[in-house]
Amino acid sequence: MNAFLELRGIRKQFGNTNVLDNVDLQIREGELVTLLGPSGCGKSTLLRCIAGLTDLDGGQILLEQKDIVKLPPRSREIGMVFQSYALFPNLTVSENIQYGMKMRGASKEERRKRSEELLALIDLEDKRDAYPQHLSGGQQQRVALARSLAVQPKVLLLDEPLSALDAKIRKNLRTEIRDIQKRFNMTTIFVTHDQEEALTLSDRVCLMNKGSIVQEGTPEELYTTPRTEFVARFMGSYNVLTKPEAMRLFERLDSAAESFAVRPESVILLNEETRKEAVLAGKRIVDGTIYSVIILGNIIRYSIDVAGVRLTIDALNDGRSLRIGERSHVSLALDDNQLLHLEREGA
Ligand code: ADP
Repeated sequence: MNAFLELRGIRKQFGNTNVLDNVDLQIREGELVTLLGPSGCGKSTLLRCIAGLTDLDGGQILLEQKDIVKLPPRSREIGMVFQSYALFPNLTVSENIQYGMKMRGASKEERRKRSEELLALIDLEDKRDAYPQHLSGGQQQRVALARSLAVQPKVLLLDEPLSALDAKIRKNLRTEIRDIQKRFNMTTIFVTHDQEEALTLSDRVCLMNKGSIVQEGTPEELYTTPRTEFVARFMGSYNVLTKPEAMRLFERLDSAAESFAVRPESVILLNEETRKEAVLAGKRIVDGTIYSVIILGNIIRYSIDVAGVRLTIDALNDGRSLRIGERSHVSLALDDNQLLHLEREGA
């Protein structure tokens, strides 16, 4: 890969804990990479190391092949947006956006022009003279984004920028961020603990656990081919099965793996008609008992006992679902392609 930003062997300890354990990462110009992982896995620390807000214990950070580790944050040409909007309360929206440019000695005219362009971009031209406390959370975060873009950074770091916002605003703003990022071809690292956010936003997702990147890939790769149990559990509602459980469901199980995963939407619930078709097609059919039914809008999530294994199965809500609380027998079609063979953690 032709890396625009490259992390090599990044190490950081707090006390005796390895918060970052030899992290390597390469990012292409214009790419949006998400650092995804549970709280405390080291995402923010990694971002802060890149920005220069936290010192490293070891490793290199190369921006366009030059090591920036020794540079102070101001000289790194990296912009950062935090979860808390962190705008200056005593400055107007326009003054907030211009702040970094002013510090860098840009002329008044240049600042005004750039600020107006960015205000148009974030659709807040009518708020240019407002103070932050008179803006909604979503508006403040758009201003924070504009402020960090104003100084034309080479890399943009976003640390959980949407977590403090309501669900609906969060979804709209994440689309806006993605549009702006693409328009500027801005190399971006986005930190989140929300797998849906990571899957919808990213060119590439790096899933972290305990200070390491445990798997990286396109959103589709990470979702459809988790390598370990941790990834399977974090990326979706995968059924994780032990070997004896998997052997009860899948006849010809010939694998060295000790644990397996089945994606909830890959198992098909059969009705009378489709059961006949499945029999004719020679599919393996197993019968189960519905344990619970949850309506998730367009998806219905069933919990079904099959051969002593409780499986989560997602089906499209076509309005003909089994009723909530109904206990009934159902049939499922299983085939070996539905079974993912997982590696041991750290293997
Ligand atoms: P994340 O962003 O993934 O939630 P963080 O990078 O914030 O995780 O934190 C990783 C670990 O480092 C956590 O256990 C946290 O408590 C610890 N940590 C973070 N900052 C400091 C600090 N300044 N001093 C001591 N421990 C810290």
